[in-house]
Amino acid sequence: MVVSKRIVLHFPRRLVDRPIVYKLIKDYGLELNILKASITPDEEGLMVLELRGEQDNYDKGIKYLTKTGVRIQSLSQNVTRNEERCTHCGACITICPTGAFEVEPLTRRVIFHNEKCLACGLCIKACPPRAMVLHF
Ligand code: SF4
Ligand code: SF4
Repeated sequence: MVVSKRIVLHFPRRLVDRPIVYKLIKDYGLELNILKASITPDEEGLMVLELRGEQDNYDKGIKYLTKTGVRIQSLSQNVTRNEERCTHCGACITICPTGAFEVEPLTRRVIFHNEKCLACGLCIKACPPRAMVLHF
């Protein structure tokens, strides 16, 4: 059975220069579509990708990633915003890898487009009044 899933990979510093994702293709025959990548030398890296392949290969690929030390986050999680808490400070705008926040030009209020959110969780720590909430 072929499966296709969207996941977020968090790379610790020591792994950012290793060809980890390449091995998913070469050794496990998986197809991948990189939706967003933010990886720089000597810093933690983040990659949002769509991974597709036979269930068995997919499971092996995930196991390989886990063994190497990559933290995997499934996108079955959901992130919402507590509208009463949001102060529209804008701190989440640049941090969001998918552009899920936008400033409304007239009111300068920050709009949250939930449909663009991949539940990576980055805005949660970045939000000063803790208005963003992750649901499992
Ligand atoms: S960082 Fe938090 S408070 Fe600031 S605009 Fe984003 S959701 Fe609202
Ligand atoms: S969790 Fe926050 S930073 Fe991550 S995609 Fe969703 S809105 Fe953007």
